[in-house]
Amino acid sequence: MSYPQPRTQLRTHVVENQPPPLEFVNAYEQDTVLREAVEREGGAWANDNLMALGGKVFDPEWIEKANLANRIVPELRRFNRFGQRVDTVEFHPSWHDIMGLAFEHEVHALPWRANRSGSHVARGAAEILFSQLECGVLCPVDITYGIVPMIRKQPELAKVWEPLMISKEYDSRQIPHWEKKGISMAFTSTEKQGGSDIRRNSTFATPTGQPGPGNEYLLTGHKWFCSAAGADIIFVVAQTEKGPGCFLVPRWLPDGTRNPISLERLKDKLGNKSNASTELEFEGTHGWLIGEEGRGIPTVMEFMLHTRFGCALIPTGMMRLSLTQAIHHTRNRTAFQRRLVDQPLMRNVLADLAIESEAATTMMMRIARAFDASVSDERERAFGRISVAVAKYWVNKRIVPFVHECLETHGGPGYIEESVMPRVYRESPIHGIWEGPGNVISLDILRAFRKEPLSGEVFFEELELVRGQDARLDATIDECRALVYDDHMPELRARYLAERMAIAIQAATLIRTAPNYVADAFCMTRLGDEGGKAYGTLPMSVDFDAIIQRAYPG
Ligand SMILES: Cc1cc2nc3c(=O)[nH]c(=O)nc-3n(C[C@H](O)[C@H](O)[C@H](O)COP(=O)(O)OP(=O)(O)OC[C@H]3O[C@@H](n4cnc5c(N)ncnc54)[C@H](O)[C@@H]3O)c2cc1C
Repeated sequence: MSYPQPRTQLRTHVVENQPPPLEFVNAYEQDTVLREAVEREGGAWANDNLMALGGKVFDPEWIEKANLANRIVPELRRFNRFGQRVDTVEFHPSWHDIMGLAFEHEVHALPWRANRSGSHVARGAAEILFSQLECGVLCPVDITYGIVPMIRKQPELAKVWEPLMISKEYDSRQIPHWEKKGISMAFTSTEKQGGSDIRRNSTFATPTGQPGPGNEYLLTGHKWFCSAAGADIIFVVAQTEKGPGCFLVPRWLPDGTRNPISLERLKDKLGNKSNASTELEFEGTHGWLIGEEGRGIPTVMEFMLHTRFGCALIPTGMMRLSLTQAIHHTRNRTAFQRRLVDQPLMRNVLADLAIESEAATTMMMRIARAFDASVSDERERAFGRISVAVAKYWVNKRIVPFVHECLETHGGPGYIEESVMPRVYRESPIHGIWEGPGNVISLDILRAFRKEPLSGEVFFEELELVRGQDARLDATIDECRALVYDDHMPELRARYLAERMAIAIQAATLIRTAPNYVADAFCMTRLGDEGGKAYGTLPMSVDFDAIIQRAYPG
C-alpha cells in the first residue's frame, strides 16, 4: 500500500534514492508488444475492455485487494455451530472483488459470449493483463472458460448451466445455483495414488438409472487436490464400468439440499495463497455425466486444451509484470553515481529479460489466433493444439528464473513482502505443475507428433514461413524435423525436443513481427551460441537501449 506524503526528513537521516511505487500506469497502454500483437492477430475491437482492465493493474486500490486476498487466506468451515455440515470456504472480501473484476472483463468467457473472430486473442490479452494483478482467481476463471466447450457437447445440460457460466455477473453468495446471477467452476481429477496417471483414479460413479451422457450418477471416493473451492459446480473425473468418465457435480441438488461433498482439509501451499485448494470426499454424491462413459480422458484433454492455454498465458503475464517492475525500479534508483538502468551490465540483464518477455507474448498471441481460426480451419486447430503444449512447457520452464532475476534487480527490497515480487515469485512455479508437469507435457507433445501427422505438418509449415531469414533458425528447423520424424527417438529426449520446438516457434514469430534488433538478439542467443545460460549475457552487438525502450518507454 502507498501512503500519501510520507516524511523523508527523519531524526538521523534523510530518506532518498527510493523509487516511487509503480502506480496509476495503464498496463495495456504501456505494453507496446501486447498492443501490437492484439492488433495484428485480430483482437483490436476489444481495446476498450483491455484498456479499462489495464487501468486496474497498477491501481493502488486493486493492488491492495490482491495483497489482502493473498495475506488473509481462505478458511475452511466444515460444520456450523450446531454440528451440521456446511463444507464451505470463507474468503476475504477482496477475493470476491477480484473475481467480480475478472467476470466484468469477461476473462472467464469472452469467446463464448462475443462469438466473433479475434475473441480468443482478446481474452488471451485480458488474461496476460489480469495475471499482473492477481493470479489466484484465474484458477476458477480458466476452469470456467475451459468447461464451456465441453458442456456444449451435452445440449440439455448446456441449456441449464451455460447462461450462468458465461454471465458477466459474479455472485459470491453460497446459495443454490438457480438463484444466482452467475456461477464459477472447479475441476478435480488428482487422487492420492495418482495425478498424471488418470487411469489410476479410484473414485467410482454408478448410474442411478439409465447410464449414459447427461444422466445422473452417484460418486464415491476422494480427490486429493481440488482448487477453486468456492466454485458452484465441480467438473470431476471418476471411473465408470467402461473406464474414466467426466461429471458435473453441483454443490446443491435440485430439491434444494446440499450435495454430499465433504471438504476435509485446505492445503497449506507455497504460493497461490488466495485460491483455496481442498482435499475432499464424495459419498453418494450426485453428478451428471458429460460425454460417454469410458471417454473421460479425451474429454479432459479437450478441456485441458483451454486450461493449458491459460497455464501459458499467466506466466507470460507474470513475466511482463516482473519486467515492468524491474525497469521501473532501475530507472528510479542510482548506485555508483548512475541510475541502475544506465549501468551497462544492468542494461544487459533488462534487455535479455525484455526479449524473453516479447518472445512469450508474441508466441501466445499467435496461438490465440489459431484458437480463433480453429472454428472453421482444421489446420489452425491442429496448430493451436500442438503449439499450446509446446508453449505451456517452455514458458513455465523460463518463468521461475525470470522472476528471480527481476527480483534481484531490486536488490534487498525485492525480497521483502511489501514489494510485489515475493508474491509473484511464489506463484511462478505453479502453472508448470498444473495441467501436466514438464515431463508429462513433453511426452504428450511427442505422442501427438507420432499419432497425429497433421500436428507435425502444420507446425513445420509455420516455421517454414520464415525459412531463409536466419541461418540459425533454418538449422534448428532441420534439427527439430529430424527429431520429430525419427521413429527411434527415445522418450528421454522429449524435453529436448519440446524446448527446441518452443525456441524455434518463438524465433519464427519474432522474425515475422518484432523489430530486427529484438529478433536478432533472440536468435543469436537462443538459437546461436552468443549468449550464456543466465539472463544478462547478451553479446556486445545488441541494441540494449532500443530493446529496453520498446519494453517500457520512459
Ligand atoms: C496448488 C495446487 C493446486 C492443484 N489443484 C488441482 C485441482 O484443482 N484439480 C486437480 O485435479 N489437481 C490439482 N492439482 C494437482 C496437480 O494437477 C497434480 O499435482 C499434477 O497433475 C501432477 O500429479 P501428481 O501430483 O500426482 O504427480 P505425479 O503424477 O506423481 O508426477 C510426479 C512427477 O513425475 C513426472 N512423471 C509422471 N509421469 C511420468 C512419466 N511417464 N515419465 C516421466 N516422468 C513422469 C511428472 O512430470 C512429475 O514431475 C493441484 C496441485 C497443486 C500443487
